[in-house]
Amino acid sequence: MTINDIAKPSLIGMTRDDLRAALTELGVGDKQLRMRVNQIWGWLYAHGVREFDQMSNVAKQLRDKLAAAYTLDRLEMAEAHLSKDGTRKYLFRLRDGQLVETVYIPEVGRGTLCVSSQVGCTLTCRFCHTGTQKLVRNLTAAEITGQMVAARDDLEDWGHNPASNSGTRKVTNVVMMGMGEPLYNGDQVADALNVMSDGDGLSLSKRRITLSTSGVVPEIAPMGEKTGVMLAISLHAVTDELRDELVPLNKKYPIAELLAACRNWPGLSNAKRITFEYVMLKGVNDSDDDARALVKLLSGIPAKINLIPFNPWPGAPYQCSDETRMQTFADIVNRAGYASPVRRPRGRDIMAACGQLKSASVKQSAAELKKAELATRNLGR
Ligand code: SAH
Ligand code: SF4
Repeated sequence: MTINDIAKPSLIGMTRDDLRAALTELGVGDKQLRMRVNQIWGWLYAHGVREFDQMSNVAKQLRDKLAAAYTLDRLEMAEAHLSKDGTRKYLFRLRDGQLVETVYIPEVGRGTLCVSSQVGCTLTCRFCHTGTQKLVRNLTAAEITGQMVAARDDLEDWGHNPASNSGTRKVTNVVMMGMGEPLYNGDQVADALNVMSDGDGLSLSKRRITLSTSGVVPEIAPMGEKTGVMLAISLHAVTDELRDELVPLNKKYPIAELLAACRNWPGLSNAKRITFEYVMLKGVNDSDDDARALVKLLSGIPAKINLIPFNPWPGAPYQCSDETRMQTFADIVNRAGYASPVRRPRGRDIMAACGQLKSASVKQSAAELKKAELATRNLGR
C-alpha cells in the first residue's frame, strides 16, 4: 500500500447503489452499467478477490480505472484471538482509529458470525460490558459488511456456490448481536444486511440473519420492512419494574409496547418466529414464578426463547444463575411448548461471549483519538 492508497476509498462494503454511482463516475455508460455492476459485485462478494486484475471478465481499461480510484482494502485486523472451544474474536481498527469486535462461533453444521453495529453502545443495560464503554459512534454500512468480508478472508471462506448456504461454507449465519444497538443505526444496518443477503454476492439467506434489539419500538417495523431478516428481542425481565432496572430503555418503551411491536413484525408466523433472549441472573430474574410469567407474557406470539447464562466481566454487578436453577427454569419453559435449551456460553476465555465485548478503544483518551484521526487525515492528503 502506498500513501496514495490511504486516500482512496475501498469498494469493499459498498452497496449496489454505491457501486453503480462509482462506475458512473468512472464513465461507464448506461448500456454497460448493469452488466458491469453485476460482474464486479460477484468478484467483490461471491469470490472475495483482492486484486482488480483478478476480475477477468472486466475490461482491462476499466480495471485500471478502478485501481486508480479505489482499493479492495479490508478492515484492518488489529488482533485475532482463538478460544479453546474454537470461537474466534477479531478486533478491527477503523480508519479513524476506533476499534470494534466481531466473533465467529463454529458449531456442528454451521458457523455464526456475531457482527457489531456501533463502536460501544449508548444504552446502559446493567449486565452488559459494552454498555460501560464511553466512546460511541455508529458504524457505516461498509464497516458492518466489512466485518463479514474480513472474517471470510480469515476463514478462507470464499468461492462456494453462491446459491447454496450449506456445504463447506464456514459463515452460514449472521447475528447482529455484537457491540451496539442496531436499531439506533437502522439505515446503515439495513443497507449492510441487504448486501449480506444479496443472492449474487455474500448470499446469506435472510432466514439466517438475526437482528437483536433491546427494544427500540418505533424502529422495529421499519427494519422488518426494509430487510426481511429474523428478529430477536432482549427481554430479560417480565415486569416493567425489573426491566426498567436491567434495560433502562424500558422506561421509554415498556414491555406492553414492545410486545405490541412484536405482534406487528412483518411476516410473523410459526415459520418466522421471534426469538426472546433472557439472560439468567442469579436471584434477580430466575425464579419459577418468573418462568411462568415469561410463558404467559409471550402467549399468542410465535416465539422461541433463548436462555443465556450471564457472562461475567470485571466489576459486573450480577452473577450467573446456578446450573440447577437454570435447568428448572428451562423445564418450565419447555413444558409450555418452547424448545429452549440453556445456551452453552462460547468463547468466555477470550471475553468473546454475549455481552463481554468492550473494545480497548476506551483506553485511548479522546485526545489520543483526535490525534489518530488527524494523522489519518493528513496521510490522506
Ligand atoms: N444491543 C443489542 C444486541 C447486542 S447484545 C441487544 O441488546 O439486543 C446481544 C445479546 O447479549 C443481548 O440479548 C444482550 O442482552 C445479551 N447480553 C448482554 N450482556 C450480557 C452478558 N453479560 N451475559 C449474557 N448475555 C448478555
Ligand atoms: Fe447496548 Fe445491547 Fe449491551 Fe444493552 S445489551 S448495553 S443495548 S449492546
